[in-house]
Amino acid sequence: MSFRTRLSLFFVLIVIVPMVSLTFVLFRLIADNENGKADAGVGARQATAVILFEEARVAAGRGAEALGRDPALATALQTGRVGEARERAEALLRPLGLKRIVIGPEGGRPRVDVGSRSAVFPVSRRLQSATGRSFGAVQVSAQGPRAYVEEVKRVTGIDVVVRRDGRTLATTRPSAARVRLPAEGRGDVELDGRPFRVSSFRVTSFAGSRASVSVLSPSEAVSEDIRRSRLFAAGILLGFFVLAFTFAVLVSRSLQRQIGGFLVAARRLGSGDFSAKVPTEGRDEFAALGEEFNRMSAELEQRLEDLSAEQARLAGAMRRIGETFAANLDRDGLLEIVLRTALDGAGATGGRAGLRDAPEAPLRKVAEAGSLEGLELTIWAAEADALATDQPAEVDRDGVSALAHPLRSVKGEGSLTGVVSVARAGRPFSPAERDLFEYLARQAAVSIENVGLHETVERQAVTDELTGLANRRRFQETLLTEVERSRRFGSPLALVMIDIDDFKKVNDTHGHQMGDTVLREVGRIVRASSREVDTPARYGGEELAMLLPSTDLEGAFNLAERVRTEIGGLVLPLPGGGALRVTASFGAATHPESAGDARHLVEAADTALYEAKRSGKDRTVRAARVPSG
Ligand code: GH3
Ligand code: MG
Ligand code: MG
Repeated sequence: MSFRTRLSLFFVLIVIVPMVSLTFVLFRLIADNENGKADAGVGARQATAVILFEEARVAAGRGAEALGRDPALATALQTGRVGEARERAEALLRPLGLKRIVIGPEGGRPRVDVGSRSAVFPVSRRLQSATGRSFGAVQVSAQGPRAYVEEVKRVTGIDVVVRRDGRTLATTRPSAARVRLPAEGRGDVELDGRPFRVSSFRVTSFAGSRASVSVLSPSEAVSEDIRRSRLFAAGILLGFFVLAFTFAVLVSRSLQRQIGGFLVAARRLGSGDFSAKVPTEGRDEFAALGEEFNRMSAELEQRLEDLSAEQARLAGAMRRIGETFAANLDRDGLLEIVLRTALDGAGATGGRAGLRDAPEAPLRKVAEAGSLEGLELTIWAAEADALATDQPAEVDRDGVSALAHPLRSVKGEGSLTGVVSVARAGRPFSPAERDLFEYLARQAAVSIENVGLHETVERQAVTDELTGLANRRRFQETLLTEVERSRRFGSPLALVMIDIDDFKKVNDTHGHQMGDTVLREVGRIVRASSREVDTPARYGGEELAMLLPSTDLEGAFNLAERVRTEIGGLVLPLPGGGALRVTASFGAATHPESAGDARHLVEAADTALYEAKRSGKDRTVRAARVPSG
């Protein structure tokens, strides 16, 4: 059922039903009232009719008294001369002003009955002798019905009917003889097509008969009054109805408008538009509902904002994880990512991570996130605690809470220590936040350790273990990139190949271990003679190589000679006493003068080295220049 239908039903229930009932009752009251007024009029006229009736009886009473005093009649009756008595009675009718005289023994059949049979309103008297003996009863009437009805009509102006035993004796309205009228009380009849109000009363009659008088008051005027009163009442009720209807429509519209407003706002809210506000006027329940709705909408908006902030944080965390992969196992970068994640995850406002490059070195800050303002002292205390105990630490001081976690890793030969910490003011960290921070810090420690291991493995993969120089693989890689660079930038690239002279003999004479020592020492000299950009390498066996970017043939030759001199000056003490001295042969070549690519560059240097060996060892030979083009 729609809201509108319900309102309409409500309206019907509280307005229309009572109004219909009220109309019914009001109409009824109006009718009763007007009929009452009419009855009062009819009653007044009936009273007049009764008075005239009583007057007739008083006149009859007087006649009866006189009759009782008539000696002739008395004698005739007492002596049983009925004929004489009838004659005397007849003779007395006119002088006594009577219409009918009936005489008989008390309770017996009348013996004398003279005058008009239709005479009405009789009175009864007992007949008594001078000695007081009763000798019969008399009933006399002084009124004829016609005279009576005419008199009443003349005085009251309304019609009258006199009936006896259901027969109409006289009436001022002939049509009244043809309808049934109530013998007593009030009623309504229609005569000659017009409504009449009837009021009847019983009257005494001659023995054995029943008589009544009815007055007929036209009730057209009453109906007209009722109609007018009802019209007036209907007008007022209609006015009230129109008022109620208008009010109901206005209220319904206003309600619908308010509910419509809610609906529109709710729909917009549903489609994600939080700018929709319900207009709230006044202080009624709708206003309260609207305010509640707006509050709910704002709350929802805040929640959604929080949610999207959370999503952004999650996205940030995902991005950082991606960066971790991309960070290519860079220790400092990794720590920074871990720190930022811990900061977000634990809801801290600031944090930092520091490492010690050597056991006794001071902490070096490698990452900082958020703001550390006002947090430094507490963070410092927590870090000191964590480093001293090698355990996670928490410090709450001056309204600032700080968490710190030690980091431990292996870097090269030495072990590396550090600490990561976060802090915030106002609220201590919850167990969940602490757990998350410790988890991340532990992961960071593991990762850093992994980085250390990786660095070692990587170093081992490209370094020759004995000499610490680049190994053959690394040498080949660097050679290719340096040749490419030389080709691109047009700067020369020199290669010097070195082979220790008669090395087999060293091994054979002094043992393999001594051979290794010679190799290590020669390697040290080669490394020490190299610049940052050079790549000294162990090419294989006891052959070494030096890759010298931006170096021409002459520069390479000079360097080779310097190294050769240094090797020649090496004095290696022998375990069994005495000293060992070695020499080496060098071959130098350059790109692009000696060769056009990497492979030919090596060949050219090798050829020069071979030439050095062939021509007597312990010398440097330059490779031949190949014609360009
Ligand atoms: P040449 O002057 O012509 O170079 O004579 P050579 O004795 O040095 O001859 P060659 O270069 O053929 O000898 C290389 C020897 O180096 C063979 C091998 O026993 C020795 N050697 C190679 N690698 C090592 C190593 O790692 N340690 C030791 N101790 N000896 C090695
Ligand atoms: Mg050799
Ligand atoms: Mg050799």
